[in-house]
Amino acid sequence: MEYDVTKLLWDTTPLYPSPSSAELAQEFELAGARAKDFRERYLETVVSLDATGLLQALQAYESLQELIVKPQMYAQLLFSADSGDDLNKSLMQKSAEFGNLMARELLFFDLELMALADEPFQSLLADTGLANYRHYLTSIRKFRPHTLPEREERLLKQKGLTGAEAFSRLFDELSASFRYKMELAGEEREFSGEELWGMLHHTDGEVRERAFATFLRRHEEEGIVLSAVFNNIALDHGQELELRGYQSPMQPTNLGNELDASVVENLMQVSEANYPLAQHYFRLKARLLRVPQLKNSDIYAPVGEVERQYTFDEAKELVLAAYGEFKPEFRELAAAFFSERRIDALPRPGKGGGAYCMGMTPSLPPYLLLNFTGNLRDVATIAHELGHGLHFLLAQRQSMLNYHAPLPLAETASVFGEMLLTRYLLEREPDKSVKIALLCAKIEDIIATTFRQNVLTRFEERMHRERQAGLLTSSRLCQLWWEENGRLYGDSVTMIEPYRWGWSYISHFIHSRFYCYSYTFAELLVLSLYQKYLEEGKAFIPRYEAILASGGSQSPSDTVGPAGIDLHAPDFWQKGYDFLRDLIEELERLL
Ligand SMILES: [Zn+2]
Repeated sequence: MEYDVTKLLWDTTPLYPSPSSAELAQEFELAGARAKDFRERYLETVVSLDATGLLQALQAYESLQELIVKPQMYAQLLFSADSGDDLNKSLMQKSAEFGNLMARELLFFDLELMALADEPFQSLLADTGLANYRHYLTSIRKFRPHTLPEREERLLKQKGLTGAEAFSRLFDELSASFRYKMELAGEEREFSGEELWGMLHHTDGEVRERAFATFLRRHEEEGIVLSAVFNNIALDHGQELELRGYQSPMQPTNLGNELDASVVENLMQVSEANYPLAQHYFRLKARLLRVPQLKNSDIYAPVGEVERQYTFDEAKELVLAAYGEFKPEFRELAAAFFSERRIDALPRPGKGGGAYCMGMTPSLPPYLLLNFTGNLRDVATIAHELGHGLHFLLAQRQSMLNYHAPLPLAETASVFGEMLLTRYLLEREPDKSVKIALLCAKIEDIIATTFRQNVLTRFEERMHRERQAGLLTSSRLCQLWWEENGRLYGDSVTMIEPYRWGWSYISHFIHSRFYCYSYTFAELLVLSLYQKYLEEGKAFIPRYEAILASGGSQSPSDTVGPAGIDLHAPDFWQKGYDFLRDLIEELERLL
């Protein structure tokens, strides 16, 4: 593929002219000074604020947060685009220290809100002037029983910089530095991790297995460092649980997500009860590939002829068309990411792997990072990340404290966008074998975002529980990983030996604890939403937009309630899996 590379790099100059610019240095300073002013003005006074005073304080706090976030997000963008660059590295370090300092300076505000006695707190909540902040106030209040005095909170925050946060940055730098040597078509070459991942879609099973094994063995070579990182991240969390009086490793995440543990546990158990559905698909896929049994390096193997390749422009047009069919305004919003150059599209050494969409503040446009290699999965990734982008854009009518969707809803628009793309492609495809390939890709994708994430969450849960009892050796981590994956695959898939190290590259375990169940949550929720769209047609669209536009202004169940979704209904999750079963049956009819 030949591209005009400069067009496929993002343009960060609307944020700052350069990482060494005076503008950037000034904003770091300005934010620091404003934070100091805020602290001087409000420290130890929150208890005496009336509703008007509190409203002013919250508004000042919000604009301060916007000021603080912008330079940090900028540093993150540059670092993920080129983590080998020294200027980016030092900016990232400066930004981490700045973020940590700001958090320490401002901690008092949330702490004092939490410390208010119940009676005055409830009457503030009831004040109409504070209506926009009701959700924010009640959600931080939930952490009240688990919060320490300010001095201790500040110390913990400060020591975190050289503790868990340091291990997390070490993990990023180490992962981004990996190069992989592998022989392909008779020639030994160096590959990036993303290129090896791309090879899981190769037509030759031997190449798929070797690419996956090469990726995993490189991680095994750094087993000492990676195990130390995982151990310390888990130990750090264990200490937090103890210090703050939490009952289980997942409790802080559930509290932050505003979900009852019972909703999450039900989600996981229903997923496990449906593992045989995945196994049924894996046996079907083995038949399609004409092998007696799948290896786990075969799961994403192309079916039929050579897998179709897409140029970046073709991919862009397809994704825009799929969004445009749903709603023309969605297409326009999505198209602006390309025309305003807010996408870094192609893989290269030193660039972070995977893909993300960064939404910053209600007044700044979101950016996308991709690693496009041209397969169907990459096209779906564009639809996915643009979905996040649309979500961030629609939520911009919210103020800063209500901007970010609660985690369980953060994947709603992205997964919905992928579904739109699949249906768009399926409806236009005349060729039966391509239709089969499309359906397989969608089913595999749903399996990856539901069952696989459930496996990850169970592994993570066990990792944290066992670390509380003592050191986790790398072989124990490998064993836990093997067991949880074995439960999913049963006798339908053979796991390749190096897959024992499959836990060691999952950055969610390091960066966003127990995030993975949000994918399962989102996928099943979206399957339900999509079914409603099929039933209700255009009438559904404004209700869907309202979900996205509400950002983080309400709890997950209040956000989706008006669209007719009840998260607490006992059969809610099973409905999503029933939709997956229908897709598998649709595939079987084509075979
Ligand atoms: Zn996503």
